[in-house]
Amino acid sequence: MKTLTQIEIEEFKQHRWFIMHHNKNCSICGKEFDFNGNSYFGHLDDGSYAYTCEKCSQQMTDAEVYTNSHRHSYSIPVSNAKLWRYMDLAKFLSLLEYNSLFFTRIDYFQDPFEGALGIKKNEELWSTKEQEWKKKWIEIRSNSNNVCLCDSELQLLAEQEFKKYRKNIKEWRTKNYVNCWHQSDCESEAMWQLYTRDCNQGIAIQTTFERLYQALPSVPQPSFGMVNYINFNEYNNGGTEKNFHPFEAVWHKRESFAHEKEFRIIIEDIVEKDFHNQNKKIRVDLNLLIENIYISPKADKWFAELVKDIIKNRYKLWLNVKQSELNEQPFF
Ligand SMILES: [Zn+2]
Repeated sequence: MKTLTQIEIEEFKQHRWFIMHHNKNCSICGKEFDFNGNSYFGHLDDGSYAYTCEKCSQQMTDAEVYTNSHRHSYSIPVSNAKLWRYMDLAKFLSLLEYNSLFFTRIDYFQDPFEGALGIKKNEELWSTKEQEWKKKWIEIRSNSNNVCLCDSELQLLAEQEFKKYRKNIKEWRTKNYVNCWHQSDCESEAMWQLYTRDCNQGIAIQTTFERLYQALPSVPQPSFGMVNYINFNEYNNGGTEKNFHPFEAVWHKRESFAHEKEFRIIIEDIVEKDFHNQNKKIRVDLNLLIENIYISPKADKWFAELVKDIIKNRYKLWLNVKQSELNEQPFF
């Protein structure tokens, strides 16, 4: 396998960043991309990137088609969007010790709806829709001149194809890993309560989307985005309005979780032997990643001093440690 040079990795990261931020519209004419159409990537005469519709791709000399790139339904935050992770001291130490973010395999999350297509009681409606797709699938193939299969053979083939498809959707949960952040412009009292087992010893690290992107390696290739909070009862019921692509299930959660304002990173595990691992460590550059460290509003002074000492003396990191802004004094 060819190893990429640092410059090639940098270039790859930059062009992915550009595509991510122009995912919905042509970067030249602004036309919205079709959900399943082609988009094109390349350079303009002045050397700048372009990610375009078919028509505008003629303005590039090196335009390449992005095959299989359907426009995704989740949103990408702005580059300087603030992202937070609230944790206790043990998790913070593990971040420093391993220089790594922990990713959890989707099927190991507590929420049983992680990666789900819909609510069980609506499964039949989804299956009815599948029957329609199957009919269409058979129709297309029986009209194709290249295939000479009788009706029963086509029926059988369709059956196998759709079984495989559904199996792939289910298995996807066991091959993908997620790392979650809270997106907010300010510190959150609720998140301190929720994500630090002992509020007296809580720590929050704050980064931005761009810092996080730069701190992560480009292989395995991560996907980034905001979680969509939906009423599952209304989705994937066979209607044409409220559907999501089956492989985008993981970007949807029930409305009851909306307070989490979750930003997530997803990586696919392509190494078969790792499939059984519940967690995965991905190395990050901590100096790039962490913009600020906040000490819980409930923590004593000695705890803040200890955290500062550990960071500076034990791990030789120059990170900005702040007292929680929730501790500011009011005046009346
Ligand atoms: Zn265009």
